[in-house]
Amino acid sequence: MGEEKFIQERKMIALVTNNDDLKLNNIIEEIKIVKIPDPADLHVELIEPYEGVIVDARNIRYALEFLTKIRSSITSVKLYLKPVFLYSDSSIADKYLMEISDGQVDSRNIVDVLPITKRILEKIRNFQNFQGNRLDYLIALKTLQFMVSRNVDLNPVVMPKSKFGYVYPLITVNFPERDDARMFEIIDFIEKRNLADSRFVDRIHLCPDCYSSFINFRETCPKCGSSNLSVDDLIHHFSCGYVGPESKFKVEDKLICPKCGKTLKHIGMDYDKPSIIYTCKDCNYNFQEPEITGFCFYCGTSSPVDNLIKRDIKSFRVSQVTINCAINGIILSLRDIIASTMKVYSNYVFKAILDHEYKKQKRYNTQSVLVYLRFNFESKDTQFKQNQQEIIVEIARVMKETLRDSDAITAIDDVTFAILLLEATSAQAKIIMSRLKGEIEKFIKSNFPQRELNIEIQYLSLKEALNADFFNSLKYNE
Ligand SMILES: [Zn+2]
Ligand SMILES: [Zn+2]
Ligand SMILES: [Zn+2]
Repeated sequence: MGEEKFIQERKMIALVTNNDDLKLNNIIEEIKIVKIPDPADLHVELIEPYEGVIVDARNIRYALEFLTKIRSSITSVKLYLKPVFLYSDSSIADKYLMEISDGQVDSRNIVDVLPITKRILEKIRNFQNFQGNRLDYLIALKTLQFMVSRNVDLNPVVMPKSKFGYVYPLITVNFPERDDARMFEIIDFIEKRNLADSRFVDRIHLCPDCYSSFINFRETCPKCGSSNLSVDDLIHHFSCGYVGPESKFKVEDKLICPKCGKTLKHIGMDYDKPSIIYTCKDCNYNFQEPEITGFCFYCGTSSPVDNLIKRDIKSFRVSQVTINCAINGIILSLRDIIASTMKVYSNYVFKAILDHEYKKQKRYNTQSVLVYLRFNFESKDTQFKQNQQEIIVEIARVMKETLRDSDAITAIDDVTFAILLLEATSAQAKIIMSRLKGEIEKFIKSNFPQRELNIEIQYLSLKEALNADFFNSLKYNE
């Protein structure tokens, strides 16, 4: 292939089909039909030289398989963000497919793909390829880049066949199964860092045992748990004071009091209906407040409604932060990077370790020290933003090297940590921490001499730590 021809082909759009019947009415020279009969032969490399792709979506499975291969690729921005349109003359009902495509075209408006392709390519030209190997980071970045290059929202789509009821096609396309729970980890990653503007869509209830949303909610007997209940109006007979379910008053089409035998005539005059009453048909128990339980169709567990996992489903819109991330990558916080290099305990578990250690200390007269460590990155220097990631990576490296495996660490916020130095005297703790501080300062001095990083260190006994303000304000649910 001559170089000239290659360059020419790069400006073309491939119309990928498995069928011979696809013919374009007018010859559009920018669109070239590429026939790939078997979806198994749909290698994304085949379409790499083309600027954009139109895939024959008259066969939904064929289009889905092809588009999934492109969008789940992680090799290059140019590949996974490639403009891909769906070709069909009838409307496409598959929302999942629509969500991961750049829209539908038919034989009449097929040339519309040219300006849209151009616009998308213009936007992704500035996007950098991702760095790092954290899966959540990669998928989040791919998703944000897709949103920005098209200026579209990240939307959940109702999918009855999915375990969760909702899926985010742009995220799940990266996983072999559509209902992979890791989808929520990516959503949390985006939401916790505020990488896009979120909007509430729905609240779902998931089984605490298997995370399924396929749950039957029903009223059950508080005594025996049966859902075989009858509900009745409660009648209060004024003249004798008797209160009981309406069924006990009913004699043919009349209401007769089972206690005094009088016939009830006018509601409000001789009787009223103060509330309703449930009767369990299995154990005959009468009650006014049934329990609401959820029965999971997946694993068969029944759980009181309060025990189900409640999760808000949101959609996400492009913000200025989203645009910055798409172009420059997601700046990971010190907490993120430390968590990916060493074990960071949740606040809850850390507190439990601390409690345990404090009891042990009193009993065996051992010594441990809690270190409060805070990095103050505040700076108006824009240059600093660019080397911040480099500095953060170095701090994480020094921390991993300085701390022992037996030391426990938890993050209080993105730049603040509590470290439990096990079996160390406060003199030893001071040596360890000054080594850590010294190494970080040395790194900054030799690489970014104009930078100043303030490192705040406090040493606390375990008793002081358990009563410290910062500790009591920790979010223990995390
Ligand atoms: Zn019962
Ligand atoms: Zn009565
Ligand atoms: Zn379940």
